[in-house]
Amino acid sequence: MSIKLILVINCGSSSLKFAIINPINKKTLLSGIAEYFNDIKAYIKWRIDNSEEKFFLTKKSSHGIALNFLANKILIMYPELFENIIAIGHRIVHGGEKFTQSVIITDNVMKGIKKASIFAPLHNPIQLIGIKEAIKSFPHLRKKQIAVFDTSFHQTIPKESYLYGLPLYFYKKYKIRRYGAHGTSHKYVSKEGSKLLNKSIDNFNCITCHLGNGSSVTAICNGKSIDTSMGLTPLEGLIMGTRCGDIDPAIIFYMNKKLKMNINLIENTLTNKSGMLGLTNITSDFRYIENNYLKNKNIENAVKIFVHRLSKYIASYTILMNNKLDAIIFTGGIGENSILIRELTIKKLKILGMNINKKLNINIKHGKTGLINNNNSIPILVIPTNEELLIAQDTFILINN
Ligand code: ADP
Repeated sequence: MSIKLILVINCGSSSLKFAIINPINKKTLLSGIAEYFNDIKAYIKWRIDNSEEKFFLTKKSSHGIALNFLANKILIMYPELFENIIAIGHRIVHGGEKFTQSVIITDNVMKGIKKASIFAPLHNPIQLIGIKEAIKSFPHLRKKQIAVFDTSFHQTIPKESYLYGLPLYFYKKYKIRRYGAHGTSHKYVSKEGSKLLNKSIDNFNCITCHLGNGSSVTAICNGKSIDTSMGLTPLEGLIMGTRCGDIDPAIIFYMNKKLKMNINLIENTLTNKSGMLGLTNITSDFRYIENNYLKNKNIENAVKIFVHRLSKYIASYTILMNNKLDAIIFTGGIGENSILIRELTIKKLKILGMNINKKLNINIKHGKTGLINNNNSIPILVIPTNEELLIAQDTFILINN
């Protein structure tokens, strides 16, 4: 019997990540990235069987050229992989209110993704290009393309979480509301967490912290998202690598009226120059930040601000848990690896029955999964995220239906 593989495609603004995954045994057979499009540095590289292969692309490279290169190369080098790819799963950042779950891509779905571009202008248009190019490069899989949305997991959050305190017509007419993001990651780690703790996901309440360059916290009740820290866009919520997270909107009036900053400069400042980068005035990289905590006052302060905001979100989400909190889950590059951030955050939450075990906390990093709490604490789990696997599994299910 032949194996069935899924190609997962994740188009970023100037990069393309991809993976070939067996959704049944959950093994990633090949994974890679193409980067630096439209630059002489452009390349594509992938890992297979524990070794890395790298090829330079032309200066005028793009998502299409990278996908075409990938299709042709794997066809020649690994025909056994190519022949067994039965479908393609695309990560799509914003599904608006239309997409509450993953769907098979049709012309109508493409129109829906285009419509939601207004809320993710840096991502959705590029991801549409990714779909079109994938159809060209894998024409035999034209009707086997699936869209998996970052927002769809959060479509269960109730009105009281998703409506802003704005005149109602902004929602009714323009659909301005909280949509959240990182949904695939929050869904994946909550499911894994319920399995690890031997609980049914339908009866599992947890707070998931996806901490990476972009960071968000989600309140999950009975396996469903009921609140999340990102909003209309991924700018809201926690302090992030370069994004400001929650701020008083009046700061924007001040920047514009008093500082004479135009709207593009303000947007760029809040999105690319703020967060940990803005506060440290050095970097957004938590590896550097963790190594230099207590050596540099700005870094120490930035960490305290990050932890303060994160612990406030976790604490506020405990009241949404219907008196039963089964676990706190850390994931993402920082959540999976930063001993410092996990320790400082959990220390602040002692009053809520959370207590970290220093030794376990130090040991669980670099892709390890496990509990990091003392016995007298609510379970605190570290679970490496695997958004690609969840996309592959959703794709497989939809194709088989
Ligand atoms: P993205 O949102 O781009 O997917 P990641 O989930 O890869 O981001 O997380 C990137 C962040 O994780 C960076 O700030 C990086 O410094 C941090 N990180 C990665 N490894 C470690 C580590 N060993 N210790 C502390 N932070 C780490």
